[in-house]
Amino acid sequence: MEWVLATQNQNKVKEIKAALPPDWTVRTAIEAGIVEELPETGSTLEENAVQKATFLQQTVGGMALSDDSGLEVLALGGAPGVHSARYAGPQKDDADNRRKLLHELAGVSDRRARFKTVLAWATESEVKTFEGEVWGQILHEERGTGGFGYDALFVPDEGDGRTFAEMSLDEKKALSHRSRALAHWRLALGI
Ligand code: IMP
Repeated sequence: MEWVLATQNQNKVKEIKAALPPDWTVRTAIEAGIVEELPETGSTLEENAVQKATFLQQTVGGMALSDDSGLEVLALGGAPGVHSARYAGPQKDDADNRRKLLHELAGVSDRRARFKTVLAWATESEVKTFEGEVWGQILHEERGTGGFGYDALFVPDEGDGRTFAEMSLDEKKALSHRSRALAHWRLALGI
């Protein structure tokens, strides 16, 4: 199957490739010659996922899969949500975003949150979306050095108390929002 992955985020590429059969070949947006930022101007994860996959499918052809994800914290009314990547500002990085989250949650005892992924699968004739989520708690300080984004602050409810950043790729894969969305996608495609 010839298809393209609509993301420039190397951490997502690693996690998505780890969830695919080893004999599958997939090109990332950059490998397909797309050097510009993919369009992401929607107000929901779903809108952004559809936008990215549609853009890539129309530009490169074939089939395209995109991933738009975010962290939703209950006590913050669902923030940072669709703004997760740039929570601390456009020039800031993952570490700044984690610091801002800890700051916003200072003194807050309800630390419940969920990671959510929306995948969009675009073919010549249609675009379909698939979702996955995982609930957990936001810690008061970072733990672990693996993963990316907010992983060092997130302890999944179904785990053993470790953060995603303290887990191997395979351990995170067993619980993550992204692998759950990927499982729905594979089921729908019968692969
Ligand atoms: P996107 O590229 O617009 O989907 O941005 C997603 C942002 O949400 C990332 O930059 C991370 O900050 C955060 N995020 C998404 N998935 C994960 C994850 O699996 N672990 C930690 N943070 C994540």
